[in-house]
Amino acid sequence: MTSGLHDQFGRRIEYLRISVTDRCNFRCVYCMPLEGLPWLPKSDILSYEEITEVVRQLAPLGLRRLRITGGEPTIRPQLDRLVAQLRSVEAVEDIALSTNGVRLPELAGPLRAAGLDRVNMSADSLRPDRIAAIARRSTHLDPLVSATAAEEAGLEPVKINVVVVRGVNDDEVEDFARLTLVHPWHVRFIELMPVGELGASGMDRVVPGGEILRRIGTVGVLEPSTGPRLGNGPAVYHQFRGAVGTVGVITPMSHTYCADCNRVRLTADGRLRTCLFGDHEVDLRTPLRAGEQLAPFVHRALAEKPAAHELLQLRVGGLSALSQLGG
Ligand code: SAM
Ligand code: SF4
Repeated sequence: MTSGLHDQFGRRIEYLRISVTDRCNFRCVYCMPLEGLPWLPKSDILSYEEITEVVRQLAPLGLRRLRITGGEPTIRPQLDRLVAQLRSVEAVEDIALSTNGVRLPELAGPLRAAGLDRVNMSADSLRPDRIAAIARRSTHLDPLVSATAAEEAGLEPVKINVVVVRGVNDDEVEDFARLTLVHPWHVRFIELMPVGELGASGMDRVVPGGEILRRIGTVGVLEPSTGPRLGNGPAVYHQFRGAVGTVGVITPMSHTYCADCNRVRLTADGRLRTCLFGDHEVDLRTPLRAGEQLAPFVHRALAEKPAAHELLQLRVGGLSALSQLGG
């Protein structure tokens, strides 16, 4: 085995998604129940210093790229302090943030100044009444204002994630796609994963990636694209002829990306989760707080990283919302 972090199938692990909170200021219909979830006690949540220590110990093993997520990460106070600490870990090449965008107009500048590289923003509608209906909160989110704030702060590339839900927002895919004609943004359409409340509807609400591409094909001539220069994950990208941005589709329901999976997840309470779905995790908080080295625990977790997830069999390992894992 070559140096670095590898799992039992030889996949090189260099990407850590870090959930900094399980809480959220939204209650998106496809993600979190209206009444919320049984929140983690504060004492269970890793401090910024503890998160940084995990990254510091994983960096020599090959960790290079980080994504800060939640719940909604921007509701945790002083997130810029965490970004600055993570930035100080030398081997870390890329720090990204996943956010619902509502606080980006005020936070984009300070986060960029602290060392954040780029941002993925969720936006499921461009219509204020519908945004509020999906988030089930009276939000003041204007996705265009938030994405512009990120772009102007230098958080590039700006990616916009749209979870497409049949009968809820699938009539807006063309409007989202049109944004890429005039903005250097990367709009990614995500197939709904039927977990949580929408789990019961099974595949009925899922709009397959092929159908999304056919619909947005009415906006202009679509050509294959390599997509944004940074952070190419599981999205397959296209670009309208003459456009400045790109469109992508992420199709967890019609394809799996497991063969090339390079990621693991750290939950807000310090569990290293090696697959989004299924119960594959190791507690890092206990050894961390006992002052032990984490490498043996990490290697044990990776030895059990599954070959592929079981979502298509709708076996989701007790997961009731993606907010518990940061998506
Ligand atoms: N709160 C942040 C946000 O909304 O971007 C970060 C956490 S959120 C759980 C991460 C991503 O998971 C978001 O892009 C969200 O749209 C996506 N997500 C949540 N539930 C989903 C589902 N059932 N199917 C597909 N994507 C989902
Ligand atoms: Fe919150 Fe993000 Fe889940 Fe929406 S998708 S409820 S913003 S964690």
